[in-house]
Amino acid sequence: MSNAPRGAVPQRDGQTYAIIPKLKLGLLDAPTLRKLADVIDKYQIPVVKITAGMRLALVGMKAEDVEPIWEDLGMDPAPAVGPCVRNVQSCPGSALCKFGKQDSLALGLELDEKFSGRKLPSKFKIGISGCPISCAESYARDLGFIGTSKGWTVLVGGFGSGKTRVADVLAEGVDKDEAVKLADKVLNIYAEQAKPGERLGRTIERIGLEKFKNLVLA
Ligand code: SF4
Repeated sequence: MSNAPRGAVPQRDGQTYAIIPKLKLGLLDAPTLRKLADVIDKYQIPVVKITAGMRLALVGMKAEDVEPIWEDLGMDPAPAVGPCVRNVQSCPGSALCKFGKQDSLALGLELDEKFSGRKLPSKFKIGISGCPISCAESYARDLGFIGTSKGWTVLVGGFGSGKTRVADVLAEGVDKDEAVKLADKVLNIYAEQAKPGERLGRTIERIGLEKFKNLVLA
């Protein structure tokens, strides 16, 4: 792993790599799509896949092509591996969806800007849904947000890998600024309290939800 080119993930054939360019919340525009298409053609990248976390993976490139590809793209690698805030996932929310109660894209962009890649005891995923239909699967994310007519419901400790854990409610009816502050506190308390490799939901189970809430809300 340490010999892998910058931002590259070794593939199971032991010879090729994948990269995941940073696309905030999966948002794309025409110039970015053109650059991606040009790079895919130029380097004959065999597989391009939208991942389960709404990210775009370019798969199957040779080691020597990885750095030139980053240079051609002019993009940064997304945090794809290791113990850190991995993806910040958001539904379209009230900016685009008729069911939206809150602006999930605005909250998601701010959370992504502030916290993406922050080092933590284990991998950490954030999901923001603009209404209780929860298209961003907020109850199955380490930190989730659900928009309601009264503000944001903040959820902690969910995950979908292994035996799914449904997140606990941390706070309800908070505005965007409060939601961002709570996110920062959750990450700080998690970093303090978790054992290495322990997902937030397991930390909450070990120390107790009330204690975790008290530490975050103090
Ligand atoms: S969670 Fe609600 S606001 Fe977001 S896309 Fe789904 S229905 Fe629309």
